[in-house]
Amino acid sequence: MIENLRPRVDSLPSHSLKQPGITADVLRLDLVHSLISGNKWYKLKKYLQDARAKSKTTILTFGGAFSNHILATAAACKEYGLSCAGIIRGEKPAKLSQTLLDAAALGMDLIYVSREDYKLKKIPDLAYEKYPSFYLIPEGGYGVLGMEGAKNILAPVTKKYTHILAAVGTGTTLAGLIEASTANQQIIGISALKNYFDLPKEINLLLSSNNEDRFEILHDYSFAGYAKHNQQLLQFMNDWFRLTSIPSDFVYTGKLFYAFEYLCDKGFFPENSDILLIHSGGLQGNRSLPKGTLIF
Ligand SMILES: *Cc1c(COP(=O)(O)O)cnc(C)c1O
Repeated sequence: MIENLRPRVDSLPSHSLKQPGITADVLRLDLVHSLISGNKWYKLKKYLQDARAKSKTTILTFGGAFSNHILATAAACKEYGLSCAGIIRGEKPAKLSQTLLDAAALGMDLIYVSREDYKLKKIPDLAYEKYPSFYLIPEGGYGVLGMEGAKNILAPVTKKYTHILAAVGTGTTLAGLIEASTANQQIIGISALKNYFDLPKEINLLLSSNNEDRFEILHDYSFAGYAKHNQQLLQFMNDWFRLTSIPSDFVYTGKLFYAFEYLCDKGFFPENSDILLIHSGGLQGNRSLPKGTLIF
């Protein structure tokens, strides 16, 4: 049912652009699926196919309590008829997040590990006992198969764009965009993590050699770090929605659109730039905010 994705492209109204002489579109991956929203389905697909080809029946992966990747993995595995387990960062909370409740309802077995063990990406003994022959998908889908899947994001999109901007976590999606774009397109990643200066190196590990250094990572728009946010960001997300009717999430895409507006304000883009912003989804994460924080 989500094999042939044709996400919508929305043109941003010219009055919403803070720089004259440019045009900008948003690729609405947030609309492709209610749970496997955004870039996650693209990143998961090749892993799931590989697991099937290897006759694996259980997928194992890592994530936090609000993770888009955990929920998308649970939903995608259900669709693929695979069972799955999620290794979740931190002890089991008294009250499960909506993300974890949804993942469990989709059939994911949740295995909690301490933050220390999580950092080491240690697979707990319990997981080996229950699922002796699991197929591991790295945290966030980072890896060459994830990148290969992410290349398909640009498949239905014309090559006319001069710049492609996307929010970045592990860099897997950006690597796919770089590989799928043409040499005259500039790829700009907005990092959602604080001072993750190894990111270009991690991305280059996923790229074919002729594409190294075809991209730029901006580190100034993380709002103090992963999933960190303040009133200014939340206010911006509401204003952006009023202006464009496009909802965003506070972990990734809110920061992407904020960065875009800031760059426009500084006159960053050359005249006649035709920009594509990738809306990578993640809206489910907003459910961790107090009710009424956002107007969408
Ligand atoms: C996971 C995620 C990203 C980051 O993707 P990477 O491939 O890890 O860089 C960006 N946006 C959203 C909404 C996400 O859920």
